[in-house]
Amino acid sequence: MKGYKFIAGAVCPSCGDLDSVMLKNDDSMIKCVSCNYFQKKEDEFDKKGNEIIESIKILND
Ligand SMILES: [Zn+2]
Repeated sequence: MKGYKFIAGAVCPSCGDLDSVMLKNDDSMIKCVSCNYFQKKEDEFDKKGNEIIESIKILND
């Protein structure tokens, strides 16, 4: 999907699928392709998505 990047090793907090979570390129939200779960950063993204964001930073190093 354009404008999104898959997060390797990330687990969806909703359905638990591995490698199905995408992060929007402007980092404003995450989205799961398996269950259509999404989380905007303005909401509880910092709490729920914290582990996912950490894994992105590691991958980008
Ligand atoms: Zn999911």
